Amino acid sequence: MPDPESFARRVLGWFECYGRRDLPWQRDRTPYRVWIAEVMLQQTQVATVIPYFERFMERFPELGSLAAAPLDEVLHLWSGLGYYARARHLHQAARWVRAEHAGLFPERIEAVEALPGIGRSTAGAILSLSLGQRHPILDGNIKRVLARCFAVPGWPGTPAVGHRLWSLAEALTPAGDTAAYNQAMMDLGATLCTRGRPACDRCPLSTLCESYTLGSPQDFPAPRPRKPLPLRRTCVAVVRDASGSVLLQRRPPSGVWGGLWALPEIPTGADPEPWCAATFGISARVVEKGTPQCHTFTHFRLELVALELRAIGKRARVADDPDHCWYNPAQPHSIGLAAPISRLLAALRDRNDQNP
Ligand code: SF4
Repeated sequence: MPDPESFARRVLGWFECYGRRDLPWQRDRTPYRVWIAEVMLQQTQVATVIPYFERFMERFPELGSLAAAPLDEVLHLWSGLGYYARARHLHQAARWVRAEHAGLFPERIEAVEALPGIGRSTAGAILSLSLGQRHPILDGNIKRVLARCFAVPGWPGTPAVGHRLWSLAEALTPAGDTAAYNQAMMDLGATLCTRGRPACDRCPLSTLCESYTLGSPQDFPAPRPRKPLPLRRTCVAVVRDASGSVLLQRRPPSGVWGGLWALPEIPTGADPEPWCAATFGISARVVEKGTPQCHTFTHFRLELVALELRAIGKRARVADDPDHCWYNPAQPHSIGLAAPISRLLAALRDRNDQNP
């Protein structure tokens, strides 16, 4: 293991010249802003996150406004970013901070880690990047840099490999300049030590890097052992009334698209027209069956078929139910929609524009 001081010096020297220092969450660095950015950046690229972060900050400039907002509005601003549990956890955590910490984002690592949706690395990132506290972090980029630099075998998702990487991160994180060091390590992983093509010839760590010496950076870290994702099939109802509005249903708070608005699922084996009448009090007839669309989630793939039903007569039963609404794709309002449903509704709107 190299001397931690010389390791940090190389990383910080590189950061000085090549690091990213003009990202929106790097301006006015409060724990709140860094928290929102770090949660958005989990599983999502910087370029995708920037416009979401800016819209989010415009609407929720401080924690109090996020805690006071309805979940629906938070999910609406999250629509398209995916992994919606992140948005639900942010909202829960904001309310928790309002209730338990008088609305002030906690500054002790244990209290930050206790918030919903925040693990050890995110807690360390928030406190080190916004307040300069010394905490190691280990996001996907840093895992890759460390696994390559120290030729750590195995998949980082296993406890033994995870433990080894955390020990390295702890040992190498300097006591001073922690914010710059942590940011530099993330940047190094994102811009030089990339998954596909590490730019070792430009890397400040190349003379220390064991995988580079071995000539096999791409063998580290080992990939997750692959299991084929199971396929789930579902049929959803696009129930439309005479004005073109579509019936939407709010999903249960947990699970796929938890808390978001989506098209109602037709239970397997149900006859759509009697099901629609019995469930919503709407008599409708089937007019079209869409082609299957595939969506990949972390643990499964979903094949979605949309069945279009035209409502006959006046709307019924769902009118006063807060978990149902009529949504006009031509005049969309601010609700949290799952991205595939949003695309499906946009396609419907475009089709209507062409065939009014
Ligand atoms: S030398 Fe190459 S493999 Fe090693 S840390 Fe740098 S970019 Fe990654």
